[in-house]
Parts: sequence; structure tokens; C-alpha cells
Amino acid sequence: MKKKITILPGDGIGQEVTREGKRVLEKIALAFEHQFEFDEALIGHAAIEATGNPLPDETLAKLKATDAILFGAVGHPKYDNDPTLKVRPEQGLLKMRKELGLYANLRPIKLFDELLDASSIKPEILKGSDILFFRELTGDVYFGEKGRRDEGQTAYDLMIYQRFEIERIAHKAFAAARTRKKKVTSVDKANVLESSRLWRQVVTEVAKGYPDVQLEHQFVDAAAMKLIQSPRSFDVVLTGNLFGDILTDEASQIAGSMGMLASASVGDTVGLYEPIHGSAHDITGKGIANPLASILSAALMLDISFGLKTEAQSVIRAVEQTLQQGFRTADIASAATQHEKLLNTVQMGNQVVKEIDRIMTSKSITV
Ligand code: NAD
Repeated sequence: MKKKITILPGDGIGQEVTREGKRVLEKIALAFEHQFEFDEALIGHAAIEATGNPLPDETLAKLKATDAILFGAVGHPKYDNDPTLKVRPEQGLLKMRKELGLYANLRPIKLFDELLDASSIKPEILKGSDILFFRELTGDVYFGEKGRRDEGQTAYDLMIYQRFEIERIAHKAFAAARTRKKKVTSVDKANVLESSRLWRQVVTEVAKGYPDVQLEHQFVDAAAMKLIQSPRSFDVVLTGNLFGDILTDEASQIAGSMGMLASASVGDTVGLYEPIHGSAHDITGKGIANPLASILSAALMLDISFGLKTEAQSVIRAVEQTLQQGFRTADIASAATQHEKLLNTVQMGNQVVKEIDRIMTSKSITV
């Protein structure tokens, strides 16, 4: 298969982890005889520094002409500490999602058994958790009208949803639930918010087309509690942009670390694959970031954008085997376990690549 992949490393540890994700894609191309052609483009703080624009036209043109995108993260402390700066890295990210029509963000939260001890939640509550989030990505308060009045002393962000925005992501969530445990939990705040009442109404209507899938509604505050109390009670979670942003970070604790969670943003055209974490200024440049979220994002790309299920499975199995052998980056290391071997970012990438080789040699994956 011949595919064009654009790498968008972005800022901070985005640069470090994306390098490893790309290396795994190169390995897969070699092992399965595909031709992946890579190019790279600027976004975020790196793009502002180079061009003054967090999403330069040249980047956007490349993204519109590519088959899939592997993205790192954007952000820099300079902006976090100064809300008055008008040009900001995250504007690049939001504009990219909107311009590419990436309205559905899929976040699989699956715990590798080897990491049961890395989470702050009790293993007996966690074991067997397997949740797929569908977070709406191009609506809600992130894209509603925002502004200040009363000489800057009052601020507002409009929470807004249109029927078609809810319908299209609901269809994706129900279709995915059909291939899993056939349950959708729709999360909203319909007891308080009008936009949530429309959300609930539309999701209930869409559900009628999927009579084999069970639908339940939860308020976001209750869902936040239940995610930690009984994570196994969830299958597919369908929610809006703001609630999804918060709940998926919370759910990262089910997987042990932010450094483990991959995501796919899809719409009607190109797919974008990225870790759920940010640019992590606190560990940038130290070479200790966990690259597994980026590597697992590459696996999602192989599966969703290219339909290469065997290749995707071999990446996931390579990650599993790496963890089984006790290899850990600092964020998923457990102080209690003696047999673990601490790796840096590049070493973890090396180990996964080595495991892909081993899988190919042992032919434990049917090609
Ligand atoms: P963050 O996700 O960058 O980091 C949160 C914590 O998790 C930090 O302690 C970090 O060290 C740790 N962490 C994250 N990824 C890790 C990895 N791969 N390996 C090991 N540890 C990891 O969130 P934050 O600190 O709130 O934000 C930092 C910057 O990232 C901000 O500028 C923010 O705006 C930006 N951000 C960008 C995105 C994105 O580009 N999609 C998402 C969230 C935050």
C-alpha cells in the first residue's frame, strides 16, 4: 500500500514522542512491504516562532493533500502564563480541527494488564476496563462566540450545538458500539443546560436506528464519579467537546498515565492521530517522555485510515510484549515492583521496534 503521512511534531515533548511514532510506522512499512512517504510541517509555538502564525497556510495545504496525520502536541509556558497574548499555539490546533472537518475524537481507554499497578485506582476495580470515548471536537464552548464586556470585567463563552453536529457523531458512536459490547452512555448536563437538552433529544432519536444497542444517559458529574467507581460499566461514551476533554483526562488514570493514551480525530476526509497529552513543559528536553501514546496513535492510523488491521495489531502486540518484559518509562513505573527496567523515550521506541521484528520473525501475526 502506498500512503502519504504528514508528521506534525508541534511543541515540547510532541517533538520527542512523534519521532518514535514515526519510527514505528517506518518499521511497519518495511516489515509489511508498504510504501509510506513522510513529510513534516509546522504547527503551534514552533510555527509562531518561524512564521508568526500557529497554523501557516503551507501546513494547511500539506494537510489537505495527505492521507493521514501524526500529530504531537502544541503549547509553551510563555502562553500558559500570559492570557493576554493574542496569537497562541492552541489556535493552530483548533483551526486545524475545524478546517479539516475533524468532528469526532475517538479515545480508546484500555488498560494493559501489566500496568494494573501503575494506576492510582485499585486493580480489582480496574481490571478488564475497556472504554471507547467519542468526544465531539468542532462545536461547544470551544467554538461558540466568546468575548468580554463591561470594560473587560465580564467574560463569556457560548455553549452551542446544532442538530447535525450531534447527529453525525452519535451515528459514529452507535456504529462503533455495534462492534463492541453494544452499549452507549451519552454524557451531558441536561438538567441545567439547554444545549445538553438538545444533545439528549437528538441522541435518543439517533438511537432508534440502532435497536440492538443499549443507550443510557448520564449527567457529567455522575459520569465523572462512575468512571472511577466502576469503569467496567462503560463501553462507548458519547459526549460533547468540553465534557469529553475533562472526562478523557480523568479516564487516563484508568490506563495508568497520560503517556499511554492515543486518539484519532476523524470526520469526512483525512484522519489525525495524536496522544491525548499536551506538550508537558515539566519534562520537555529530558528525554523521559513516554512515547507509547504516540506509537499507539500510529496503530490507530494504520487501522482506521488505512484499514491495515494486522499491522495495527502487530504494533499493539509489540507494546504489550514490551510491557510484559517489564520495560517502563518513568511515568508508568511502579515503585513497588523490582523486575521493571526503566527506559528513556528513545529506548522505549527501540524496544517496540525490536518487538515488531520479533513478532514478524516468529510469524505470530498472520500476514
Ligand atoms: P500535559 O498533558 O502536557 O501534562 C500533564 C502531566 O502529564 C505532566 O506532569 C506531564 O509531565 C505528564 N505527561 C504528559 N504526557 C506525558 C508523557 N508522554 N510521558 C510522561 N508524562 C507525561 O498537560 P499540561 O501540563 O496541562 O499542559 C502543558 C501544555 O500542553 C500547555 O501549554 C497546554 O496548553 C498544552 N496542551 C496541549 C494539548 C494538545 O496539543 N493536544 C493538550 C493538552 C495540553
